[in-house]
Amino acid sequence: MTGPTAFRTSTEPRCWQCGALASPNRSYSVLLVADCHRQLEAFGYPVIRGRRLDKLRLSVPRCARCQSRTQISGVIVLCGAFAGAVIASVFWPHIEPPSWLHWNTEGIIGIPTAIGLVIGLVVTMIGVAKKRRALRLRSVTDYPPVNTLRQAGWDFPSS
Ligand SMILES: [Zn+2]
Repeated sequence: MTGPTAFRTSTEPRCWQCGALASPNRSYSVLLVADCHRQLEAFGYPVIRGRRLDKLRLSVPRCARCQSRTQISGVIVLCGAFAGAVIASVFWPHIEPPSWLHWNTEGIIGIPTAIGLVIGLVVTMIGVAKKRRALRLRSVTDYPPVNTLRQAGWDFPSS
């Protein structure tokens, strides 16, 4: 069927992260919460009223490539943490934690493993963040509706 609707390309949703055409079922879902007593403005987004917290979900348009990039980033960070743990336990088996840490040496995993894990995690997270900046990908937390809602008092569940 052809008609005016066939020429909607300029109004098609664009991937917020890279600007490519967004895929309808690849959008990124953002959850925001607020104290239910505050009865915050939701700007037309559906709000799930809770006993303590109101919840609001909005989706950020995204393309398939950015979705897989996000998933790959997660795998890379996990691999980095694992590699750090292995490298540290093999090459520095006698590494000691700084004394101010009061580390319980009877822990489940060894100290070199734990230190390597943290270093591997941090190093790969920095690497992934740098790569994202190099690709000029925008973060979902910079999505304007998310900003508007956060200025109104909504926030991410963890903070
Ligand atoms: Zn994209």
